[in-house]
Amino acid sequence: MSIEVTNISKVYGTQKALHQISFKVNKPEIVGFLGPNGAGKSTMMKILTTYLDATEGVAKVNGHDVNTNTKQVQQSVGYLPEHNPLYLEQYVREYLSFNAQVYGVTKSRIEEVITLTGLTPEAHKTIGQLSKGYRQRVGLANALLHNPDVLILDEPTTGLDPNQLVDIRNLIKSIGKEKTVFLSTHIMQEVEAMCDRVIIINKGEIVANKTLKELRDDKEQVVIVAFDYRVEDAFLLKLPKVKQVKNTHDFTYEITFDTAEDMRSHVFDFAHDNELKILQLNQKNASLESLFRELTS
Ligand code: ADP
Ligand code: MG
Repeated sequence: MSIEVTNISKVYGTQKALHQISFKVNKPEIVGFLGPNGAGKSTMMKILTTYLDATEGVAKVNGHDVNTNTKQVQQSVGYLPEHNPLYLEQYVREYLSFNAQVYGVTKSRIEEVITLTGLTPEAHKTIGQLSKGYRQRVGLANALLHNPDVLILDEPTTGLDPNQLVDIRNLIKSIGKEKTVFLSTHIMQEVEAMCDRVIIINKGEIVANKTLKELRDDKEQVVIVAFDYRVEDAFLLKLPKVKQVKNTHDFTYEITFDTAEDMRSHVFDFAHDNELKILQLNQKNASLESLFRELTS
């Protein structure tokens, strides 16, 4: 197991940032840690990278306890912090040399990570001369220097333009073929573009932990509608993308659709075309998408 978190809690003064969090990440796997701002993502990542102590619980990286085996954890993990502290006046190689020395990594490894992260055409510049996308590559190169098994990336794509976004996503996906990648984001589409699995966190608690396949299968929706008159189920089954119709009571029906698209307007048109009056029309939030929308809206 690459990452194993058991009942981790973190309190800052009186503020609870994490509350009894547990999850696992396997190798190789790209897992998205998704949650709105302030959910506790960075706090969890700092605990996993030994930058911060948990108040309670156990966290292990590559089998090493973050509390007792700090050195081994740091050897196992490459970390791209949320506010990647780059020194603008330094040259790319100069910046990478610093950590290379800390980790006792050879000069040839610096060239390797420069190639690996696509930095070659910009490697002769100072960090201040680089675009945000290339600065993120420098951060990734830095995290990869000591060839760790696990990469922890805190919002690696925030602030990138659409082209840079595609490039960095592809880079992370290729790294994720061999390594464990645990990345945080507050954007659902990021998860869909890069991840095998998503762990959703809200207000310091995990609210979902699912594979993308499970997530896609989840893309159904339930609409609750009450008409002024009884309607045959078979009639309602003519609605587009309908999966199931259930008459719950009187003239009220629960209609399940096989899509994440909001189907209420279709139900409304259907009622209108068939001279039915609608007394109630609601969408029952079932999918992870709507759960996340609910959390972040
Ligand atoms: P995220 O990365 O998901 O945006 P954080 O882990 O940064 O969330 O923060 C979680 C909560 O803990 C937030 O409410 C934040 O204000 C609080 N917090 C984070 N760091 C500190 C700190 N050093 N002192 C006090 N509160 C903090
Ligand atoms: Mg954060």
